[in-house]
Amino acid sequence: MTAFSRPDGREKDVLRPISFEANFAPNATGSVLVSFGNTKVICGASLEKKVPSWMRAQNVAGGWLTAEYSMLPYSTHDRKQRDSSKGRLDGRSVEIQRLIGRSLRAIVDLKKLPGYTLWVDCDVLQADGGTRTASITGAYLAARLAVETLIEDKKLKENPFSDSIAAISVGIYEGHPVLDLPYLEDRDASVDFNVVKTGSGDYVEIQGTGEEATFSEVELAALLGLATKGCKEISTLQTTFLSQQLLKGLAG
Ligand code: UDP
Repeated sequence: MTAFSRPDGREKDVLRPISFEANFAPNATGSVLVSFGNTKVICGASLEKKVPSWMRAQNVAGGWLTAEYSMLPYSTHDRKQRDSSKGRLDGRSVEIQRLIGRSLRAIVDLKKLPGYTLWVDCDVLQADGGTRTASITGAYLAARLAVETLIEDKKLKENPFSDSIAAISVGIYEGHPVLDLPYLEDRDASVDFNVVKTGSGDYVEIQGTGEEATFSEVELAALLGLATKGCKEISTLQTTFLSQQLLKGLAG
């Protein structure tokens, strides 16, 4: 029997190297380039003095937070045509941007964004698996940095976020539950999960499917255990990054 090994040599419960670069897109109110190994996503947050028409029509108080997601044409190995030249929105992108928006709205008090929409745009610069979970992780940071600037600029009175949010993929690859799948593993995985958790440890969303396969209760518990470990580690990295950025802001 040959020993199990991952294509990039990581242990089953180890994340890819993760990094965050602040102010990658300086014209956004807050922005971050998030990298999970070779997956890189630009996340930019901007405020608009407007709420969606359904909120105005129903006289809903407060504001809104929403997200958009897309893959740049050169982010994939084969060029991916832009939606604007195809003339229709890609179903996968719509699903992912709704997931990003829902995840962020789980930890935001919309009443603290009165009359505003906070847009978080996630554009994949380089795709190597886990772009949606990297997007959620970076979108939170970009939004949080934007909030600091908006408070400084007196556009917002207080931070509308009550918690943080992080996300990671887990899956069963060659019969083994593994954390943070790059494309090669994602492509061949028999079970594929995306897990979103708050910094305080609650679940926001679990997307899990057997890809022409099934999974047992035991495997499910192993996958969620890996996701919890991953999200905890990401959450710690997010906290460190944000405190460094906020300190810089105070100094500057
Ligand atoms: N992918 C691609 N072209 C596409 C969609 C996906 O090359 O149109 C690749 C990309 O590396 C992506 C991976 O397949 O990260 C897995 O895609 P999936 O839909 O599972 O989403 P993700 O894992 O990126 O959240």
